[in-house]
Amino acid sequence: MANPIRIGLVGVGKIARDQHLPVIGASPDYTLAAVASRQGTYDGVPNYRTLPEMLAGRHGLEAVALCQPPQARFEAGLAAIEAGLHVFLEKPPGASLAEIGLLAAAARARGVSLFASWHSRYASGVEPARRWLAGRRIRAVSIAWMEDVRHWHPGQDWIWETGGMGVFDPGINALSIATHILPPFFLTGATLSVPENRQAPIAADLRFTDAAGTPIRAVFDWRQTGPQTWDIRVETEDGVLVLSRGGAVLTIDGRDQPLPPEAEYRGLYDRFAALVRSGASEVDLNPLTHVADAFLRGERRLVEAFTD
Ligand code: NAP
Repeated sequence: MANPIRIGLVGVGKIARDQHLPVIGASPDYTLAAVASRQGTYDGVPNYRTLPEMLAGRHGLEAVALCQPPQARFEAGLAAIEAGLHVFLEKPPGASLAEIGLLAAAARARGVSLFASWHSRYASGVEPARRWLAGRRIRAVSIAWMEDVRHWHPGQDWIWETGGMGVFDPGINALSIATHILPPFFLTGATLSVPENRQAPIAADLRFTDAAGTPIRAVFDWRQTGPQTWDIRVETEDGVLVLSRGGAVLTIDGRDQPLPPEAEYRGLYDRFAALVRSGASEVDLNPLTHVADAFLRGERRLVEAFTD
């Protein structure tokens, strides 16, 4: 067994606490060496306010996981790469496409691994869905990603600012699955519903197609109360595949498929360890490209102001 990778984490917020820190702590591939967060803290390791302070702490760091909002990642990512660290980026990997291109080039030049992670691709049903769809003729796809923003993102102002992406923050998870299980597709039109007091959409209605002319529709909405919906439905010549609960449940023609237990972040950290040990990077910008296209090509419709 190789030595554990000495990793630091930046941005002790919701996802760091819910997933990264417990998964790193339970993995034989990693030793958590320190964390950096302006307000967040984590017991049992040295705590710093900023990444430069953590780097100066000389903890023999080999890698860092960046769990801040996307607007704060480029500066930290570049500093970490220049310090010779392998970098794990939470999704979405950044606030613009070009900045991630720069990070990828910097990682190549410095000889370190850059991992733009997409956790939803590691949901239990996604790989079986990809295998079942491979080679089948697809007739139509509909995606519904509808949740209650007040429940899932209380007090998160960054999400409403430019670069925060609004409803695309969860919606990009659907796009990360769709780009993994479907042939390449592109956006033909979109309607973005933007609260009159915010910069980012609260809902998006997206139309896509592919080289075969397949209709692909995605509806993202943050105004859903009651039961939450994270579904992808793919009609094929051989039957209907439905991935629901964000990819945790898979049915084919209404029949539940047996799946392994949920282990999205375990899967991500296993993948990052493999990348670091083989000296490779993985940076797939397709999900973020579709979001950028929606902002490029979408109609913007002002809707009722949003208050927490
Ligand atoms: P969060 O609770 O707001 O935590 C992010 C942390 O980053 C903050 O607590 C803050 O800690 C730090 N930070 C650094 N620069 C910041 C800035 N300019 N503005 C705001 N915070 C800043 O957010 P989160 O839900 O963990 O989401 C972080 C990233 O993880 C997002 O890209 C999101 O899409 C992704 N993600 C979230 C979830 C989820 O369930 N929430 C699931 C999967 C992925 P300090 O103030 O201590 O520095």
